[in-house]
Amino acid sequence: MQPQIVLLKEGTDTSQGKPQLVSNINACQSIVDAVRTTLGPRGMDKLIVDSQGKATISNDGATIMKLLEIIHPAAKTLVDIAKSQDAEVGDGTTSVVLLAGEFLKQVKPFVEEGVHPRVIIKAIRKALQLCMEKISEISVQIVKQSKEEQRSLLEKCAATAMSSKLIHQQKDFFSKIVVDAVLSLDELLPLNMIGIKKVTGGSLEESQLISGVAFKKTFSYAGFEMAPKSYDKCKIALLNIELELKAERDNAEIRVDNVKEYQKVVDAEWQILYNKLAKIHESGANVVLSKLPIGDVATQYFADRDIFCAGRVPEEDLKRTMKACGGAVMTTANDINAKVLGLCEHFEERQVGGERFNLFQGCPNAKTSTLILRGGAEQFLEETERSLHDAIMIVRRTIKHDSVVAGGGAIEMELSKLLRDYSRTIAGKEQLLIAAIAKGLEVIPRQLCDNAGFDATNILNKLRQKHAQGGQWFGVDITKEDISDNFEQCVWEPSIIKINALTAAAEAACMVLSVDETIKSPKAGEPPMAGGGPMGMGRGMGRPM
Ligand code: ADP
Ligand code: MG
Repeated sequence: MQPQIVLLKEGTDTSQGKPQLVSNINACQSIVDAVRTTLGPRGMDKLIVDSQGKATISNDGATIMKLLEIIHPAAKTLVDIAKSQDAEVGDGTTSVVLLAGEFLKQVKPFVEEGVHPRVIIKAIRKALQLCMEKISEISVQIVKQSKEEQRSLLEKCAATAMSSKLIHQQKDFFSKIVVDAVLSLDELLPLNMIGIKKVTGGSLEESQLISGVAFKKTFSYAGFEMAPKSYDKCKIALLNIELELKAERDNAEIRVDNVKEYQKVVDAEWQILYNKLAKIHESGANVVLSKLPIGDVATQYFADRDIFCAGRVPEEDLKRTMKACGGAVMTTANDINAKVLGLCEHFEERQVGGERFNLFQGCPNAKTSTLILRGGAEQFLEETERSLHDAIMIVRRTIKHDSVVAGGGAIEMELSKLLRDYSRTIAGKEQLLIAAIAKGLEVIPRQLCDNAGFDATNILNKLRQKHAQGGQWFGVDITKEDISDNFEQCVWEPSIIKINALTAAAEAACMVLSVDETIKSPKAGEPPMAGGGPMGMGRGMGRPM
C-alpha cells in the first residue's frame, strides 16, 4: 500500500488551479450583478433586510455590500474595495465594484485559454498607469478666483454626487446646505464637526442647517419646565457626573438598628449631592450638560437658580459641544471653576417637528454645524443621511484637490479610447489584454444607459465616434437619451474619485487573479463536512481518500 501523507486537518477544503480562478471570477460577477442596477441618476435602490429583520433602503454601493454579508473569500475583496473607496473619497462606491468586476469579466476568456495570470496582471498595471497619466493630463484645474466661483463649483460637484440618490429631486436645495456646512468648518475640514440629526415627519425642504451644535432634548425630570430655555452669552458646564440620589437597592447593604441612624445615612447622601450642586452653581455656569443622569432633586435645584440642565447627553454630542465651545468635561465636582466652562453666544431650546432641540450657536472655538433632516419614513431619512454623507465627502475632496473631470461616462470613454489606441501600437498578448481592459472601462456608460432604459449600443457607438473626433468630455445625457458634452452640462466629479476608483478596481482585479488556491479550514466547533463540499466525499467519516 502507498503511504498516506496527511497534510491538512480533516475537513479542510482545498481547490486550486484554473478552475479555481475562474470560479473566483464568477463569484465576483455575481456580486457585481447585485449592485449593477444602482449606478447613476436613473439607478434603482435596493431594499435589504438583515438577519435581525431591519430593513434598509440604499443606493450606496458600500452600504449595500456591507449589508450583503458576503462569505465568498474572493468576492470579499470587492466588498473591501467598496469600503475603502467610501472611506477614502466617500463616493464612487458602485463604480469601483463595477469596474473591478468588468475587468475580471473581460480577462476571463484569457484565463480560460491558459494565459498566465502574471501576464494579465502586468497588462492591467500598464493600463492603469496610462489611465492615471491621462487623468492628470486632462483634468481641469479650477483656479480659485473668487468665493462665489468656488461655491458654484462645489455646488455642482455636490449636485452630481446626489443626482443618483433618492433625494435627487431636492439636490439643488441640499447642495446649498452641504456646501454651507462644509464651508463653515475650519481649515482641516474635520468631518465629525458636522452633526446630522434626523427628525421624522415634515418634508425634506424643512431640513435646516444650524451653525453650531444641536441635539435632541434629553430625558428630563419634573421641575424642568421652570428652567429658562434661552440664554445669551452663556457659560456651559460639561460633566460626567451623576447628579441623582441612588435608589437604595443599588448600594451596598447597610445594617442600622434605629431610625436615627438611617436618617443619618439619608442626610449624608443628600449632603453629598447638595455639595456637588453648590460647586456647580458657584462656578457661574448657566447651562449644565452631563453624560450621566441628572435627577429630579438636581433639576429642581438648577431650575430655582435659573440654570438650564440636561442629563444623559450622548457622548458624541458632549464632545462636539466641548470642541466647539471650549471648556473641559469634568468627572468630579470639586475642581469646577470658571476656567473649565465652555462659552457660547446664544443657547436656546427650540421645537423642530415633534422634537425639542437644544441649540448652541456662536461657538468661539471650533467651527461646527448641525444638519437637522426632516422627512417621511425612517429608512428614507437614513438613506438621505448616507446620500448627504457622499455629497459632504465630495465637497471636502474638491476643496482639498480642486481638479475635476466630466462624469456620466465621459472620462471612462476617453480612457477607453486612449487604451485602444495604445493597444494598436504594441504586439502580442498584451495588445489583446489592453484592448480587453479598454472594453471593460465602457461598462460605466453602458450601465448608465441600461439603467435609464436607453439603447446602450447605439449611445456607445455615438460616444466612441465623438471621442475619436476629439470630443473628450462627451458622455451620456440622462435627460435626453443622447450624448452631450458633460463638462458644459456641469456633470462634474472630482478627479480624485476617478483616480481612486480605477486604482482600487485594478488592484482588486489583480488580487483576485493572483490567487490560485484556496484552502479553507473547517470551522471550529462544526463537525467536518460529510460529503457536502465538492471535495468532501467521504472525508468526514475519517476514511482516507
Ligand atoms: P457611485 O456609488 O459609484 O457614486 P452613483 O449611483 O452615485 O454610483 O452613480 C455615479 C455615476 O453617475 C457616475 O459615473 C456619474 O458620472 C454619473 N452621473 C451622475 N450624475 C449624472 C448626470 N446628471 N448625468 C449623467 N451621469 C451622471
Ligand atoms: Mg455617487
